Amino acid sequence: MPIDPVCKMEVEKEDAAAETLYRGNKYYFCSEDCKDSFEKEPDKYSEKKKKAG
Ligand SMILES: [Zn+2]
Repeated sequence: MPIDPVCKMEVEKEDAAAETLYRGNKYYFCSEDCKDSFEKEPDKYSEKKKKAG
């Protein structure tokens, strides 16, 4: 099950309030608010590996 990257809640694809595509990955959100937060700072929430240091 996909996880809302903003609030870390599990979201069923069918029940997702919003979804977005970022760098080829699909993200699902429990609410439009979470999607807005993600789109403001996608790098903060996407599963990009952090550089050590
Ligand atoms: Zn959420």
